[in-house]
Amino acid sequence: MKSIRSENTRPEMAIRKGLYALGFRYRLHDKKITGKPDLVLKKYNAVIFINGCYWHGHDCHMFKPSKTRPEYWKNRIEKNRNRDQKTIKRLRDEGWRVLLVWECTLKGKCRLTQDDLLNKISKWILSDRSFAVIDTQSRAE
Ligand SMILES: [Zn+2]
Repeated sequence: MKSIRSENTRPEMAIRKGLYALGFRYRLHDKKITGKPDLVLKKYNAVIFINGCYWHGHDCHMFKPSKTRPEYWKNRIEKNRNRDQKTIKRLRDEGWRVLLVWECTLKGKCRLTQDDLLNKISKWILSDRSFAVIDTQSRAE
């Protein structure tokens, strides 16, 4: 599991620190919650996943198909995607609000500024939207 959802990655740390500075309090990788979300904000009934574009198969510039054993990796990533979808559905069924933040918002040529991203995240936390995705495409929002 660890190889798939690596914990304490740099983008994740940046988001954590930023949210903390804004006054949000959260739990990290709570095993008791479905899918062990990266951040759990109980007070807002919200969980946040920060997904690596490669492992979770994001359709963006950071995702490049592997040249070695492409079929194997394609299947692995497809499995991850399916599992992610199931996890999100389960969490929503359990009454959680779910936010998905893609790594490319913090890394690579299309990244948002940290302020921009934190702004979007905190807006969502304070909103009543039950599900949202933040990726580089949501820049114009
Ligand atoms: Zn991406």
